[in-house]
Amino acid sequence: MRAAVFPRPQECETVEREVPVPAEHQALVRVHVCGVCGTDAHIYRGEFPARFPVIAGHEFAGVVEKVGTGVSSLRPGDRVAVDPNIHCGSCRPCRRGLTHLCRNLSAIGVTQDGGFATHCVVPARQCHRVPDDMPYEVAAMAEPVACCVHGIDRAGIRSGDVVLLLGAGTIGLVLLQLVRLQGAAVTIVSEPNAGKRDLAERLGATTAVDPVSEDFEQAVKAATGGTRPDVVIECVGSAATAQQAFDLVGEGGRVLLFGVAPEEVQITISPYRVYREEIAITGSFTNPFAQSRALALLASGRLRVNDLISHRLPLADVSRGIELLESGTATKVVIETQERG
Ligand SMILES: [Zn+2]
Ligand SMILES: [Zn+2]
Repeated sequence: MRAAVFPRPQECETVEREVPVPAEHQALVRVHVCGVCGTDAHIYRGEFPARFPVIAGHEFAGVVEKVGTGVSSLRPGDRVAVDPNIHCGSCRPCRRGLTHLCRNLSAIGVTQDGGFATHCVVPARQCHRVPDDMPYEVAAMAEPVACCVHGIDRAGIRSGDVVLLLGAGTIGLVLLQLVRLQGAAVTIVSEPNAGKRDLAERLGATTAVDPVSEDFEQAVKAATGGTRPDVVIECVGSAATAQQAFDLVGEGGRVLLFGVAPEEVQITISPYRVYREEIAITGSFTNPFAQSRALALLASGRLRVNDLISHRLPLADVSRGIELLESGTATKVVIETQERG
């Protein structure tokens, strides 16, 4: 098999390796498409606790080639999307039903080899079957979409709400569509990149505003008819946007911090305001029990992800994919792991 390996931070090599053999309860997946995620960029830069050397990539879909003993849920030839997050099942959070907050969490593409390869061995139970007519690049979006589905579970949007989204990267644009499906009356997107603002409006945003070159708060006010948003979803992960989310939310409102801010970042929150205006601040971590719902949405055609894929690259270009993502110009970069033609 061929794989893009990070031997250590800041390095990526395409190597030949033996195709792994699936052990008991495992499946060997021939990977077709693997998305490049901000987490892959953080791993590559050495800013994320990963196991080195590692084959990164945790957003992938492909076809089952072989199964180990004891696997009854899958057969060779099944097309699957992989849920990369593996919980232990016996720690306290797991026992309380919070499997995504497992104290012994491991993840395919982080602590074990992932999808930037022609093949990957995974626990069979991490595989979700996908319909025959769903393209692999759509199925590969199941993982980030599932994270967004969990985010929507946490956001508590009610029909008729005014929702502000900060950031229109892939995640912001998926969340925007889910917010609309949830029944929001007004969706405002704040995004400095003009191309992404256009895309947000094409995907149904009421308006997309530039936080840099306009009087941003006036523009938000104009869009909401003078009120403050009921829900603000932060999908950037910076101190400035996290602060903005708290400052802009209205009475009885809810702030969802979805973007991954650096650990040391702090913002200022008035406890009085939280009390007097009943502001709720919540987070959203990974994709618990959301992968099959994400696949159902993708299969329904009610969620559009094709328009979000801006670059399709071969396996040899994983590090270029990461650079494109970091440049802020790409939306979704996907790696097509099999040779073309
Ligand atoms: Zn991801
Ligand atoms: Zn656990």
